[in-house]
Amino acid sequence: MVALVFEKDLIKEINKYYRTLWAIGHAVSLMSWDTETYMPKEGAMERGMAYGELHVLAQKILLDEKFVSMVDKVAEIEDLNDYERGVVRVLKRAIRIAKALPPRLVKELARLSQEASVVWREAKAKDNYNMFKPYLEKIIKLTREKAEYLGYEEHPYDALIDLYEEGMRTRVLNRIFNILEPGIRRVLEKVLDEGYYPKKHPLEKKEYSKEALYEVNKKILKILGYPLGSRTRLDESAHPFTIGIGLRDVRITTRYEGYDFKRSLLGAIHEFGHALYELQIDEKLMATPIGTTVSLGIHESQSRFWENIIGRSRYFVEAIYPLLAEKLAFLKEYKPEDIYLYFNIVRPSLIRTEADEVTYNLHIILRYKLEKLMITGEIGVGDLPELWNDEMERLLGIRPKKYSEGILQDIHWSEAMIGYFPTYTLGNIISAQIRHHILNDLPEFYNKIHSLEFKEIREYLREKIHKWGSTYEPRELLRKSFGEEIEPSYFLKYLEEKYLSKKI
Ligand code: MG
Repeated sequence: MVALVFEKDLIKEINKYYRTLWAIGHAVSLMSWDTETYMPKEGAMERGMAYGELHVLAQKILLDEKFVSMVDKVAEIEDLNDYERGVVRVLKRAIRIAKALPPRLVKELARLSQEASVVWREAKAKDNYNMFKPYLEKIIKLTREKAEYLGYEEHPYDALIDLYEEGMRTRVLNRIFNILEPGIRRVLEKVLDEGYYPKKHPLEKKEYSKEALYEVNKKILKILGYPLGSRTRLDESAHPFTIGIGLRDVRITTRYEGYDFKRSLLGAIHEFGHALYELQIDEKLMATPIGTTVSLGIHESQSRFWENIIGRSRYFVEAIYPLLAEKLAFLKEYKPEDIYLYFNIVRPSLIRTEADEVTYNLHIILRYKLEKLMITGEIGVGDLPELWNDEMERLLGIRPKKYSEGILQDIHWSEAMIGYFPTYTLGNIISAQIRHHILNDLPEFYNKIHSLEFKEIREYLREKIHKWGSTYEPRELLRKSFGEEIEPSYFLKYLEEKYLSKKI
């Protein structure tokens, strides 16, 4: 018997109405892709206007009285199936958020963040924190207001993290980071002591031909199972990203710096992980409120799973070595072991986006701590640079000498994205958690990687995570698929097995 996804007439009616919102989302995604790739520079102003208008239109459609009362009515039905309950949950949440925020605040934040990100770019280039400071101050003020309007039970930060990771709370994050911090520092100390994983490698400076690496990336994506051409694209952009325009149209971008080829290759594998999630959502959910990925943390767990757990493993590096050496001739003088070490450099560095697997989450711990202090008002923007530098020194033993390597390095705060950073760590943890479970359920996991057979791994991820779309909230999805909630100890276990036992 084929299980019906949507049975109730009222749900079917809601989904039909929702199609207009879906279509706006579809158009906006395509516009965003174009903005980041091929739009002529001077198109930005009108593009911004068009985004603003479409956003207002979407809000109007979402908050239509008849629609809202339909959603309220269907929420009262007791025998909804899981998919139907998912539709209600997703729509109720979207309506709650849209209703909570006064249009004045939404507009002000949108305008401010657009201005602030322009100023931030210049402030970073000139290494001038004072330029950015008044903007950051306003952003924090408005974000605190936003948290109050959204409401929370325990901590104002709860209201913000919840926007990016449904159901996540500050209390849970505190527990996670309290376990991670000492665990990571213990591993890091040993790794640096032993010196087996290098702090630098000659291949970081080695130049490559862009055409050759493009061929490598394409070949490897194909091996992983990326349906290039039929359902996907591969383009270039300054900041690599993935965008799901539809379940059969998912696009990734990469970047070619011209040296240090692992950045481009592992970046492509990272985006492949994001793309596969979008591609493997059940098509029965297409164009409905739950036919989308569920959260940033779950999304990032998919990219990190392919980039780090698979892409940076010995098994994978050994397996792709012949292909690499064929296309990038300079690699012939290096052994697979060298490439493995080059992929797994461990070096405390000032810049988050360049951080390795061991130190990465320490960068997030720093940002999380400062964000909480800003949101509760315990510190002002004047205190931030010193506090940033002190924390950096405490966590990683290095101190920024320039604002651009410290407080000014990330774009997120200028775009008023406060509460976003922890989702990177959630992704890292969940990727290690999935590794633990896949090893139980598919014991030949690493053998499969070694023989470059990824079908069963893709299927596993489809069954456990992808196909559900947003049917379950993140916490429930993990509980349903793995019988437990997010658990940071898996990440530490993974680090130890790799960096201390050197097995993977
Ligand atoms: Mg990512």
